[in-house]
Amino acid sequence: MRIGILGDIHSNVEALRAVVDALRHDDADIFVQVGDIVGYGPDPSPCVDIVRDLGCITCMGNHDAAVLGLLDLSYFNDKARAAVEWTRPRLRPSDVEFLRALPLIEQRAGFTVVHGSLHMPDQFGYVISRVEAQHALDEQTTRLCFIGHSHSPCVYLRRTPNTREIDAYADSEIDVSYRGFQRVLLNVGSVGQPRDEDPRAAYGLVDTDEERVWIKRVAYDVPAVQQKILAAGLPHLLASRLALGI
Ligand code: ZN
Repeated sequence: MRIGILGDIHSNVEALRAVVDALRHDDADIFVQVGDIVGYGPDPSPCVDIVRDLGCITCMGNHDAAVLGLLDLSYFNDKARAAVEWTRPRLRPSDVEFLRALPLIEQRAGFTVVHGSLHMPDQFGYVISRVEAQHALDEQTTRLCFIGHSHSPCVYLRRTPNTREIDAYADSEIDVSYRGFQRVLLNVGSVGQPRDEDPRAAYGLVDTDEERVWIKRVAYDVPAVQQKILAAGLPHLLASRLALGI
């Protein structure tokens, strides 16, 4: 089976369409979405529609929680808060209903989906350091776990569930076999707002038969999204950063 994993879409429908096209080309059998469908970008409702229509196995991100009023906005910086406040009145009732139904953690046979970390998932902590990866892996009971939140792709591998040894790969594109590893923690990067200095949309692909994991990148029409962000009256920085991948 091939699992296509996408997340941190952040209301960027141009990037999302490019990733969905790429995942169809990659013969993904099922789709997973790791949270933050909305926030930052100009097209929340079209992104919700695509995630719903793909039948994604999904979880809730901190921006999804914030637009629903489930998270204190003092947690957010000025630009993120402005985008949350811009997004709220523009959501359709059906969008609110869809976002509200998202779980913090979704577990299926063989894999778990969470936005930040399995370690205190409601706190939306990041997995960036090895220590944070250890804490997350300690809570992982399935072989695979898919996360987002940092907007930077990375994969952490343990040969046995409780070993302290971790193999880690962080790069804009990754192609790694996980044969012989019982725990795989994959941060798939961001569709709609990459922060690893590569402006191309990021997504993950896992082949469970080959036991192989990829992070792939796909270019999309960044200037079109930047124009929409400015026309919407969203903060300029949210447009300019897209061209730099920061
Ligand atoms: Zn995010």
